Amino acid sequence: MALTFPAPADLGLGGVVGVPEAADIELELRLESVMEGVLVSGPVRAPYSGECARCLDAVTGEVAGEIQELYVYADRADNPDTETDDQELRVEGELIDLEQPIRDAVVLALPPSPVCGPDCPGLCSICGARLADDPGHAHDTTDPRWAALAGLLTDDTHESGSLRAGPTEES
Ligand SMILES: [Zn+2]
Ligand SMILES: [Zn+2]
Repeated sequence: MALTFPAPADLGLGGVVGVPEAADIELELRLESVMEGVLVSGPVRAPYSGECARCLDAVTGEVAGEIQELYVYADRADNPDTETDDQELRVEGELIDLEQPIRDAVVLALPPSPVCGPDCPGLCSICGARLADDPGHAHDTTDPRWAALAGLLTDDTHESGSLRAGPTEES
């Protein structure tokens, strides 16, 4: 049974990567009747979008997960009066609520740190420039410690120069 659902809001990993709201989530469901209820399984696919973890470029892709859930008939449930048992999914009349299993499957399958490509060089650690745009990008910076040392060397040269100059002037 092929089904398409609009994605619910906030389906993702904290805004870094997720399935855009109302995007098509495709399900290929298998329903099996078992003693306690209905076993629902099948692949779930959805588009995702996010930011490259290295260069912050927009990244899109498709997430593919797998659902496997047992929906228990209400009269077979351990405690039919408890509506807030989130360990247990119920067959509600003829209906089953697929949102939670879809969420779980999609979130589990999302890449936690998507990258725009396996070779993404990321951003320059000094100025934040995108290195992919500028492969030869480099900074002609002098390490501040070396700069200080260079200053000392200059002073030394100057001083020793004047020391050497001293006796010359006296003689
Ligand atoms: Zn990137
Ligand atoms: Zn730079």
